[in-house]
Amino acid sequence: MKKREIQDLFDELGFIRTGGSKEELKAAKMIKKHVEDLGVKATLESFEVEADTCKAQLYIDGQKVACKGYRGCADGEIEAELFYLSNNDAYSLSACKDKIVLFTGGIGKFRLEDLNKSGALAFITTNGTLIDDTDDIDDKELRSYIREGNKNMPGVNINIKDAAKIIAKRPKNIKISTKNEAKTALSHNVVAYIEGELEDEIVFTAHYDSVPLSCGIYDNLSGAIGILAILDHFKKHRPHYSLRFIFCGSEERGLLGSKAYVKAHEEEIEKIKLCINLDMIGTTLGTPLAMCTSEMKLVDYLEYTALIEGYPLRVMQGVYSSDSTPFADKGIPAMTFARIAPNDMLIIHNHYDTMAHMDMGHMKDDIDFITSFATKMANAKVIPVGRTIPDKMKEKLDEYNCRKRPDQKVI
Ligand SMILES: [Zn+2]
Repeated sequence: MKKREIQDLFDELGFIRTGGSKEELKAAKMIKKHVEDLGVKATLESFEVEADTCKAQLYIDGQKVACKGYRGCADGEIEAELFYLSNNDAYSLSACKDKIVLFTGGIGKFRLEDLNKSGALAFITTNGTLIDDTDDIDDKELRSYIREGNKNMPGVNINIKDAAKIIAKRPKNIKISTKNEAKTALSHNVVAYIEGELEDEIVFTAHYDSVPLSCGIYDNLSGAIGILAILDHFKKHRPHYSLRFIFCGSEERGLLGSKAYVKAHEEEIEKIKLCINLDMIGTTLGTPLAMCTSEMKLVDYLEYTALIEGYPLRVMQGVYSSDSTPFADKGIPAMTFARIAPNDMLIIHNHYDTMAHMDMGHMKDDIDFITSFATKMANAKVIPVGRTIPDKMKEKLDEYNCRKRPDQKVI
């Protein structure tokens, strides 16, 4: 695929595409058409997602503060004192009792569990940075796996600039009200297949949805375009192993597309020998990364290969928060390729994720290296990667999937 074609795909699909929205479906249909234009049949596989709306209000000492209710949180009207939870130590948690608790960042399963145990009444989270040029408030949801097994409570999200002002004021009285309207919607995976000589297959995944505040150029139109380019390559060069391409929906809502895929295709899991996921490639600044949820031999192999080919790849064994993970959780060696932008670029999950930070030369370099690696695997007499997940990685998967509480206090 040429740089010009890659650029055109970014231009065409670079709109907000949240999981379960009509824009996401529009993007899915466009991707299906692009796959079929390359001569490969594609199907849309739908799965149900929550599509609640949550009306919310927040008053600080009688003054209204802009907020968005957590979709899926408990309905309620709470009036109480504020507590700023700045650490997860036992003292701080003990001080949450009967308070509305504010903390920076989002909320996970163990944070909600801690708030419940400590007797908190409601929570306030934040998004954004103090130097943003807007006061955007992200439309958050209390994901079903966070609520599962946990008592629910009302929650709202505010901009971090407001959070700083609120904390500085030491307010006496906080009022929160939340009211949900439960709805469901459909999200879609776009699935394509290139038949090889063997029935056993390699799966390529990349999510094409975005978060509400972002056009999701880097995260992750880049990866979706990446696997489209790989599909184009293999359509022209028939592989030994069969190849499955899954453009995943609703990744940003908790890997819902890839989870739905492995659930719906339980009987085909045995055939999958490797999952290659792309999530965030092609930035101007940043370090190419391959994160392997696999045995160490793959890490070593990739390090050697990158040096031989002259590609500046950092390789790690670990769990990457993306669509490779539900496959690894099913025992399939899985890996994610990314080009990790420096932290201070702050271009993920906000309106700064635009073409301004992308580089078509790097897109091409990333796609070329991944295609070269995929070609070796797809044309291997036998895929050498052990179909096993080391115990250390299983433990990381348990933590990632909230089956095991991580050791560190900050969660
Ligand atoms: Zn992503």
